[in-house]
Amino acid sequence: AKRIVIKVGTSTLMYPNGKPNLQAVDELAFTLSDLVNQGKEVIFVSSGAIGIGLNQLNMNRRPSSIPEQQAVAAIGQSELMTIYNRRFRTYNQQIGQVLLTRDVVDYPESRQNVINTLEQLINMQVVPIINENDSVSVDELDHLTKFGDNDFLSAIVAQLINADLLIMLSDIDGFYSANPTTDPTAVLYQQIHQLDQRLFDQAGGNGSGSQFGTGGMLSKLNAAQLVLANNQKMILANGKHPKIIFDLLEGRNIGTLFS
Ligand code: ADP
Repeated sequence: AKRIVIKVGTSTLMYPNGKPNLQAVDELAFTLSDLVNQGKEVIFVSSGAIGIGLNQLNMNRRPSSIPEQQAVAAIGQSELMTIYNRRFRTYNQQIGQVLLTRDVVDYPESRQNVINTLEQLINMQVVPIINENDSVSVDELDHLTKFGDNDFLSAIVAQLINADLLIMLSDIDGFYSANPTTDPTAVLYQQIHQLDQRLFDQAGGNGSGSQFGTGGMLSKLNAAQLVLANNQKMILANGKHPKIIFDLLEGRNIGTLFS
């Protein structure tokens, strides 16, 4: 795989106590920068703005209203990019922020503009860091009715730039036959070629496992469905140690491969 979209969830970037996981952030910056040095084309989709914003504001949970959440996201997004800028600079890697709404694909002109921007950044060996533009879109925040946490957005990005692989890092080793945090008999799927209702049922609703995550497994399956429909590949793996990406790219069978 040459052109790779990497998506990390809030659960990878934040500790359960709401503090940023500097180890994961640093390892991500190192890993993605090294991949660029290897000649790979790397596009990074990062959640975490609200989690980081809550930490900045010394709040321990999401405010209830959407405007308050959007304000927290605005604060957190800028801090998130500050953190990434520091870490990526250590490895002489340039980054560029791209904030998207999911409906960019519905408007041919904005769709083409996004493609142009991303292609240009990739050409310049810059890592685009993409997040949903929470000030414009409430989709991600309104996670009870919509697919959240950038999962679907990352599949759209993979589609837009014709990526060879979408790597989704979460707080779990992959997709299981049931939620392993509540069902000890759950077994990991190593490979899935086709999604059906039974698998969607096993994803168990769109509730998130983590305190700050919003996606849950259902939104990952929705992303996987788009990826499969586009004849692309997606790997869902544990982001606890982001260096795992090196192993994934060497073809080691870790996590769940959707292909
Ligand atoms: P992220 O923040 O990385 O997007 P989420 O917390 O949104 O992660 O989603 C991952 C969580 O989904 C897991 O920690 C787990 O609790 C839950 N989950 C529900 N069903 C499953 C399943 N069948 N296989 C794996 N995880 C599942």
